[in-house]
Amino acid sequence: MPPTAASHAPTVAIVGGGIGGLTAALALLRAGIRPHVYEQSPAFGEVGAGIQLAPNAVRLLDRLGFAEELRDRAVRPARAIEYRRWSDGRLLGFQSSDLEHEERYGASYVVIHRAHLLELLLAALPKDLLHAGHRCVGVEQTEGGARVLFEEGTAVEADLVVAADGLRSVVRESVASGHGPAFAGFCAYRALLPIERAPLGDAARSVGIWLGPGRHFVHYPVAGGGLMNVVGLVAFDDWPHGFQPQHVSAAEFAERFAGWHPDVRATIDVLTDVTLWGLFAGTPLPSWTSGRVVLLGDVAHPMLPFAAQGACQAIEDAVALGACLGRAPGDIDGALARYEHVRIPRASAVQAHARENATAYNLPDGAEQQRRDAELARGDGGAWLYGYDVEAAVAEAALAAGS
Ligand SMILES: Cc1cc2nc3c(=O)[nH]c(=O)nc-3n(C[C@H](O)[C@H](O)[C@H](O)COP(=O)(O)OP(=O)(O)OC[C@H]3O[C@@H](n4cnc5c(N)ncnc54)[C@H](O)[C@@H]3O)c2cc1C
Repeated sequence: MPPTAASHAPTVAIVGGGIGGLTAALALLRAGIRPHVYEQSPAFGEVGAGIQLAPNAVRLLDRLGFAEELRDRAVRPARAIEYRRWSDGRLLGFQSSDLEHEERYGASYVVIHRAHLLELLLAALPKDLLHAGHRCVGVEQTEGGARVLFEEGTAVEADLVVAADGLRSVVRESVASGHGPAFAGFCAYRALLPIERAPLGDAARSVGIWLGPGRHFVHYPVAGGGLMNVVGLVAFDDWPHGFQPQHVSAAEFAERFAGWHPDVRATIDVLTDVTLWGLFAGTPLPSWTSGRVVLLGDVAHPMLPFAAQGACQAIEDAVALGACLGRAPGDIDGALARYEHVRIPRASAVQAHARENATAYNLPDGAEQQRRDAELARGDGGAWLYGYDVEAAVAEAALAAGS
């Protein structure tokens, strides 16, 4: 059922049913708005493997009612991140344990299979709001709202359209034409393996990031600790396949990590199903809104995965949008202005941090690498990222504006 005009709450159409779109739907529901979600795929669900969720996102999911489910479905790694040296496996530094994260930031650092996260979000949404098999081909502004056009020739109108259609967004063009993400000079080898086959010993229970020249290697447990998510991130000059991942051999992956510590090579050697993804990123957009169309998630801030924050930022966007509209349901334009005011500086800073990590995580051995390692040995420094509470930021912005 398409949204129909309601007398009190605005009607909202969300394009894209990924982590951002579904979290936005839940945040809007909490604000008393019943949004409809339009997803291009024939069924809602996530491809891909694991995802790290940092305390800045986990606290929001906890408040949306998922604390217990996350405890059941996600894994709390022994240490959030252990940084290791590529050649000898030496521990360079680590971030807090789960307990320390709870104490410091009031929420955990968890790792979860993407499909499990989507299942949790979907289960909490009324089915009549979910519309699979709806591929958006464009949006148009209307008098006091916007219209979403679908491939099969149908359309829906709403007071507000939320573009949550990811990296290859078709809706972005209507807000920020020509600002789409570009190939960022890195590719990611991705695979899952049964954790008992991973020859990493105790280290397999933590999020591990092994740093080496021009590449780094990431692993963490998912699926109740039964599987290990493995990602090899490698600098590439060129990527001719656009957004299309390619199936590649474990031998190709292994070749990229020749000369690395035997544990890394042995982990790659047992992989059976490896895909290679080009990584795309963008620079901060000057605006996230045009009329009654607003951007959210990867559409608004496509970033390298080197801060493990793309989805976390989409969750922050979603909750911020719900909070802004919830505070001013009768003033959509004002709510969108506040959403941009709160979100653009924050997401841009995280985008920049991911870009900085592209340099720091892939340094050749030498003086700069030694300085980085000394900094990692000093520990955390993640308070600005993990301690941030987007709901508090919206409340502060409202207070400052006297509303
Ligand atoms: C290798 C790698 C590792 C990562 N690791 C992490 C991590 O550990 N932690 C983290 O926070 N982030 C991580 N990310 C980033 C994270 O995956 C993304 O930021 C996140 O998925 C963005 O969510 P989204 O909802 O904005 O977009 P998406 O997840 O891309 O969802 C968009 C949805 O819109 C749908 N759609 C697209 N076009 C249309 C259309 N025309 N009409 C209708 N529907 C449409 C799609 O089918 C999809 O369901 C990683 C990314 C990569 C590449």
